[in-house]
Amino acid sequence: MNVLIVGSGGREHALAWKISKSSRVDKIYCAPGNAGIEEYAECVPIGVLDFPALTAFAREKEIGLTVIGMDDPLVAGVVDAFEAEGLRVFGPSKAAAILEGSKAFSKDLMKKYNIPTAGYENFEDADKALTYLETVDFPIVLKADGLALGKGVLICNSLEEAQAGVKEIMLDKKFGNAGNQMVIEEFLTGREVSVLSFVDGNTVRIMTSAQDHKRAGDGDTGLNTGGMGTFSPSPFYTEEVDEFCQKYIYQATVDAMRAEDRTFKGIIFFGLMLTEKGPKVLEYNARFGDPEAQVVIPRMKNDIVDVMEACIDGRLSEISLEFEDNAAVCVVLASDGYPVKYEKGFLIDGLDTVKAKEEEGYYVFHAGTKKTDKGIVTNGGRVLGVTAKGADLKTARANAYKAAEWVNFENKYMRHDIGKAIDEA
Ligand code: AMP
Repeated sequence: MNVLIVGSGGREHALAWKISKSSRVDKIYCAPGNAGIEEYAECVPIGVLDFPALTAFAREKEIGLTVIGMDDPLVAGVVDAFEAEGLRVFGPSKAAAILEGSKAFSKDLMKKYNIPTAGYENFEDADKALTYLETVDFPIVLKADGLALGKGVLICNSLEEAQAGVKEIMLDKKFGNAGNQMVIEEFLTGREVSVLSFVDGNTVRIMTSAQDHKRAGDGDTGLNTGGMGTFSPSPFYTEEVDEFCQKYIYQATVDAMRAEDRTFKGIIFFGLMLTEKGPKVLEYNARFGDPEAQVVIPRMKNDIVDVMEACIDGRLSEISLEFEDNAAVCVVLASDGYPVKYEKGFLIDGLDTVKAKEEEGYYVFHAGTKKTDKGIVTNGGRVLGVTAKGADLKTARANAYKAAEWVNFENKYMRHDIGKAIDEA
């Protein structure tokens, strides 16, 4: 069958690579894709929010499965648009994608169904939020309700900082309409772990765990970014933690969504904090994390198309997910100055060196790249992710940093401490 992938980042590149391995797939298209995805898919210049053009394209090319990688189209209802045309699509409906689209909704859901999370209050009115701040302990966490490119969370150490944060989010609308509502939440401490899962409305099957590195600088300093690197599995995600989460978090979330008439099919990303009082949910996403997808997908043994179809058809209980018994580390190569100000258009060298070693477990997943007459050039803040596998986390990390040196471009920037937590396990 023909498959259409919607999105253009490293996550979609990892998906395109994995889908290309499926025995079920004839041809892959990607809207809009990137220079790396072109190797596996025909990239078509259709915007991810242009639903009429996407569905018309899917009809014309007789697409048997459309896979939505990104949050924006999901929250805006792309799945509903496809289903209304009788087209098969992998991802949650608009009603279900609210799990990521509104933090106020997800907090209320967790409270109603006793799913462990940080204490919080929701606000629609800035004055009320400011008054509430007078009563809390610091640090405190402010969250814009809606989608904000992963940047709508502020950790505030003092009343003054928090007051300025409320003003930024609700009055200055720094994150646009995402700040029409906000959550003020208790600050949690502990290890963070990301757990991705496939969901078919009833059954939830978790994938291997991962850990992201959101800050721009070494030692978790600097601004929050889309993610500077990741490793999988997390040594902190123990059997005991898994048992707890299976019992109180994963199935409980899926059941809660069904009970709210918002049956969820697709990927749920559980962002967890392993606190002294047990695991708590920091956030939900309604799609693969990026760069988490770049370490989780290469370790997956199943045919991903089979698993996605089982989710659509409600047959996930028949499938057991299998992952390689190894580890993977991804180091993001960015443009110096990201996430604030950076230059683009520099030629990227060494991509073929990594590509030639795919059999040995080295991968390069493109994000901000562009094909030009002179070759592939940088075209964004996060340029690409270099992923390497290894028998264990330390080997995978050494391999990833070795491979990160094979790829070069002017103003290349990366963190040098991705996976540092491995040494503390
Ligand atoms: P989120 O987008 O909700 O995952 O938040 C982004 C990042 O902010 C998380 O990955 C955490 O590092 C941090 N964060 C979010 N909520 C909290 C919290 N309640 N306590 C401490 N850190 C948090």
